[in-house]
Amino acid sequence: LTLRDLQASQNRLRAINAAMDIKLHELSEANNALYQTAKMKGEFLASVSHELRTPLNSIIGFAELLQETARAEATEAEPPASVPKRLRYLENILRAGRNLLGLINTLLDMARIEAGKVELRPERVSVRDVCEGLLGLIAPLAEKKGITLKQETSEDVPPIRTDAKKLQQILFNFLSNAVKFTEPQERSGRGATITVRAERLIWSSPGREAEERVRISVIDNGPGISPEEQARIFDKFYQVHGGHTREHAGTGLGLAISRDLAGLLGAEIQVESEIGRGSMFSVILPLSMPEPRLDGGETATAAAGGGASGAGGRASGPEASVT
Ligand code: ADP
Repeated sequence: LTLRDLQASQNRLRAINAAMDIKLHELSEANNALYQTAKMKGEFLASVSHELRTPLNSIIGFAELLQETARAEATEAEPPASVPKRLRYLENILRAGRNLLGLINTLLDMARIEAGKVELRPERVSVRDVCEGLLGLIAPLAEKKGITLKQETSEDVPPIRTDAKKLQQILFNFLSNAVKFTEPQERSGRGATITVRAERLIWSSPGREAEERVRISVIDNGPGISPEEQARIFDKFYQVHGGHTREHAGTGLGLAISRDLAGLLGAEIQVESEIGRGSMFSVILPLSMPEPRLDGGETATAAAGGGASGAGGRASGPEASVT
């Protein structure tokens, strides 16, 4: 090996280094452009869904007014013959309108989360109250399908510091899915039951001290979800049998939103399910959520991400033991 050889290889190395620097620069520019595009997409989605809501609310509002008028006419001594038909049509307009509003709200939620524009308001929350409130909210729907609702809150569940609205949104997604996918008694041949369970547990993960957590679960004895599907149901827009039957209305965004919201609350989502036996969706919350970053004003925003458990939001990692 001569000095000349050494010098030549050093020059080559220098050239390669310089080329790499250029590539690195290009990469970071591309990355930046990608970030800007994603941000614009999010902002576009957020403003479009917002703009769609205003006229839609007006359509729904006026349809409600017409419905009231028609109902009043129906109680008259000699109601016009057209009243039943008008009532039916208005019923259709309202159902479709409210459905659309629900879809737009879901899209708006997703866009807000993606744009990191979620406002978080941590407060002291009674877990029992949250569960009771939610069961009350879902009761009419469950009753319509002949589903029995149960609540199991163990005595030792402590109050937690979290964003109550976000927690409710997560649990409401679980509950409405449970109601939506659980067959009524006559069809499945067994009593359909949905249980909301809250319990205190000790959460230990490798390399970290064991900490106290609260797990809230929604348990159904519906159709269940196969392990392969469990890995995918947290993907945006993913629905088992999606697109084929469309028997169940939905966007396939509910669980994706729940997982992101859980991340913001420092919580994790787990699912346990067996085909033919039922499903259990749980959110496992810290006693106190991470303090949101304050943006000057009173409210705080946080970007989504992290927090929720690994790929597909499936049960992963830390071991939990119920106390
Ligand atoms: P959506 O309810 O709008 O379809 P989600 O993201 O909430 O979207 O759920 C995704 C999919 O996961 C559902 O379409 C359904 O196939 C499946 N799923 C969710 N919850 C349950 C449940 N409790 N039982 C059976 N399947 C479920």
